[in-house]
Amino acid sequence: MINFQYTRPSSQKAAIDALAKDASAQYIAGGTNLVDLMKRNIMAPEKLVDINKLPLRDIQEVNGGLQIGALALNSVVSEDDTVVQKFPLLSLALKAGASPQLRNMATVGGNTLQRTRCPYFYDTAMPCNKRQPGTGCGALKGYNRMHAIFGASDKCIAVHPSDMCVALTALNAMVLVTGVKGDRRIPFGEFHRLPSDTPQKDNILEHGELITGVWVPDDGFTKNVHYLKVRDRASYAFALVSVAAALYIQNNIIKKARLAMGGVAHKPWRLAEAEKALIGKKVSDATFQQAAHIAMRGAKGYGYNNFKLKMAPNTIIEALTVAAKA
Ligand code: SF4
Repeated sequence: MINFQYTRPSSQKAAIDALAKDASAQYIAGGTNLVDLMKRNIMAPEKLVDINKLPLRDIQEVNGGLQIGALALNSVVSEDDTVVQKFPLLSLALKAGASPQLRNMATVGGNTLQRTRCPYFYDTAMPCNKRQPGTGCGALKGYNRMHAIFGASDKCIAVHPSDMCVALTALNAMVLVTGVKGDRRIPFGEFHRLPSDTPQKDNILEHGELITGVWVPDDGFTKNVHYLKVRDRASYAFALVSVAAALYIQNNIIKKARLAMGGVAHKPWRLAEAEKALIGKKVSDATFQQAAHIAMRGAKGYGYNNFKLKMAPNTIIEALTVAAKA
């Protein structure tokens, strides 16, 4: 780890200014990912701007939805009464993430910005285009069991590791951002990037922009929801495949449907065509099998992760089945 400057501003403007002046500076909040990356010399910011003094912890109902401050802790959000009652899919996804200790430190903003857990990214002896552009991708022909089956490129086949972001993508949430050029509201589905030729860029944030919170529209998914995470251990493991499913059912007919997958792409993977196929259909095994079949169009395995081509549709069917019975 290199020596670095540390500053702890009290205002949003001071934080943004501190970052804007230094191309290698980084914001830090819970530090549950960035500190690991610094210890392993994968990231080496010369300045850390600690944002923990900023007033960004509130969870409040605003404009027909729920606004959650960027510094709200994952554990607090997952147990918040309004989240549990009106946005249960978000609560389930948060509780599926990491471990209780990590959820007590990790923030909503940091969860959104966490980086891939590709083992080649963390091993500085191995080639990795995301860590060091132009060096190649160790995973492409390597041990790629955890890697993408959708949206990958020949430069990177990593996956985004968050559970929370999968639920927020399914729920049509927005990322609230501010910076020297003003405020932006970015749909969750557009915030993270596919790797293309520039896998070093995880998302569309510009340097210095600060996530101030997320906003989740209240679309009435209070009952028939499920977050199903398939992983190697029951806790403290990243998803091999996860599915966030939310249904609105009347008289056994699906009126509204939301579906997104985690562990399968460089970003939370929204299943828009499968959602369309569910709407207006009866709740049945055949309906869910058809949606899963549609969801898998374009999927591609890279060897060790070929099992995901079967695991993913099975996880979709199971998540929808459990959601429908909830
Ligand atoms: Fe690096 Fe991406 Fe390849 Fe992993 S998959 S080694 S993160 S370029």
